[in-house]
Amino acid sequence: MLIDSHCHLNSDELRADADALVRRAAESGVGRMLVVGCNLENSREAVAMAHRFQENGVFAAVGVHPHEAARFSGGLPDPMLELVSDERVVAIGETGLDYYYDHSPRGVQRDVFAMHLDWAVRSKKPLVLHVRDAMDDVLSMLNGLEAERRSGLKLLFHCYSGGLEYLDAVLELGAWCALGGAVTWDRNDRLREVAARIPEDRLLFETDCPWMAPKPFRGRPNEPSYVRLVYETVAAVRGVEPAALAARIERNADAFFGWGASCV
Ligand SMILES: [Zn+2]
Repeated sequence: MLIDSHCHLNSDELRADADALVRRAAESGVGRMLVVGCNLENSREAVAMAHRFQENGVFAAVGVHPHEAARFSGGLPDPMLELVSDERVVAIGETGLDYYYDHSPRGVQRDVFAMHLDWAVRSKKPLVLHVRDAMDDVLSMLNGLEAERRSGLKLLFHCYSGGLEYLDAVLELGAWCALGGAVTWDRNDRLREVAARIPEDRLLFETDCPWMAPKPFRGRPNEPSYVRLVYETVAAVRGVEPAALAARIERNADAFFGWGASCV
């Protein structure tokens, strides 16, 4: 079974085609997909899709993307916090810091990220992190948590882009790293080097569709079925059998999201 640990079937680009995309994913062997929320409405839609496509192994994450942090500077609204108790919600996110686009002021991004850290500690749900050009601040906020709170947090660096420079610090936190279509792109040897070095029990794969399409589809809308190309690329880079890698990733996803037994 293949896993797409991060997709946006709830995006404007994909929503209308969700039925076809889920069907194509199933035909390609994708047995679990995590639909990720970026704001309140979008998180609600992620939850609704997780119910609608329950038989296809679709689950949801709920949270506020750093791009949208400015809309939530006053706090996470109760309807958002309540979503986490839904049985199909297995994670909080995506949250984090994005200093590349700076769509929200950095101080506000840090405030809203801190709210998600509190929320994850309280709800005991794993956290899906979006980090772009902000590794130093994310690591210092995570390392600044009291040891007791931090030790209870499961962390996934979605679309990991910290290179080898930050990998040791991320692994020391006990975090997982997810790789997507960028690992297939020409001239991305840097990320393939990272793909070879992530310990096999901390590795996950994703599409981040509709964005980040893998090599033959680059520049076109991405979709969950394309996660297969990420698996194939990383299996070749690591010199392992694709089937063995897929089995390992399935166990990793079970360990991270805790969705193994609850599926379908
Ligand atoms: Zn995303």
